[in-house]
Amino acid sequence: MFCVYLHIPFCQKICDYCDFRVMPVQPRIYKEFVSFLCKQIVCLERKNPGLLATAQTLYLGGGTPSVLPAEYLREIFGCLASVGVNVHKLTEISMEFNPESTNEASVEAALELGVNRISLGLQTFDAELLKLVGRSHSVEAGIRALNLLTSRRGLQVNADLMFDLPTQKVQGFLDDVDRLSDFPLNHVSFYGLNVSPRSRLGHRVSRGELAIDEDIYEPMYLGGVEILERKGLKRYEVSNFAREGFESVHNQNYWNCGEYAGFGPGAHSFVGGVRYYAPEIYPRWRDYVSAGCPSEMLEVDVLNRESKIMELLWLSLRQSRGLSFADLEAMGVRDAEKLAGHCIDKWLGKNFVVKSDGSIRLSGRGWIFMDDIVTDLSNVYSNLE
Ligand code: SF4
Repeated sequence: MFCVYLHIPFCQKICDYCDFRVMPVQPRIYKEFVSFLCKQIVCLERKNPGLLATAQTLYLGGGTPSVLPAEYLREIFGCLASVGVNVHKLTEISMEFNPESTNEASVEAALELGVNRISLGLQTFDAELLKLVGRSHSVEAGIRALNLLTSRRGLQVNADLMFDLPTQKVQGFLDDVDRLSDFPLNHVSFYGLNVSPRSRLGHRVSRGELAIDEDIYEPMYLGGVEILERKGLKRYEVSNFAREGFESVHNQNYWNCGEYAGFGPGAHSFVGGVRYYAPEIYPRWRDYVSAGCPSEMLEVDVLNRESKIMELLWLSLRQSRGLSFADLEAMGVRDAEKLAGHCIDKWLGKNFVVKSDGSIRLSGRGWIFMDDIVTDLSNVYSNLE
């Protein structure tokens, strides 16, 4: 499957934990940004004629795409149409929203363009925590946004929560999950806070002003999973839960090693078996597009057989369907199951994985030890002849 990702790098305010390629809203450069984004799209089409017309999903992420005024979104969709993307035939068109820019007008504009899935960055219902991590919305704005989005018939809505935040209590997070899953949602995601040392929050943690309690990660994660599964939202990926049939098609393409083209500063692409990254810093990205998107200005990952195997391990085991040994054998690994027998037995013995139908899947506390399990298997399959 082939998918398209658009990176809209503007945010109302940069959150204290943010480590993404974003910048504060700058209405005076929207026009310029959109014109460069469109140029980048046209560049790819010139180099790979017909490729974009094969896209099955479109995802507008960021940043906060919902801060971009409707006229600019229309211009972007017009450009996509001009290179053969038929938005009416796409399986899924997703767009990320934040509560402060979710209103009748922004939702209407997205729906008119064909957006059929909105992902809301809610993070928590706790006012103190929102303030502590530097979010720009209030609890009330989050609830208003949820009510507005879930009132739209036919619109699929996801909402994101975060956990393991400084000072957060286990019960506080479980209450968030419980409260969120009482809204008529078909999809919920939750992510443990990953403190980047280069974020404002990371600086506060390294100065000792705030602490991350690693011991609360497990009861929060497992407790959250239990609540969602009880309410019919099944885990299909380590952080993603959906009612059957409402899983994100776009994100599953990433996890299934599918190809995609990304546009915007720092956007990743995987086209023709090559993974590459556009320049991350806005002026450098603008120079790259002005120069006609030369491949010399890209950062390129060369995927040899070993790195493809490692990628398969990481991407398969994070999904509930797990790792199929047939997929490893298709990559030339002979006797894949036998080769990892000792390692699999170790994790089976702890009930951290289950084995069935030629595959292994994480189970129970195994989800908490995902990194260890994947690393163990990576050691088995690295350096094979
Ligand atoms: S809304 Fe998301 S992308 Fe924007 S600053 Fe906050 S964490 Fe970063």
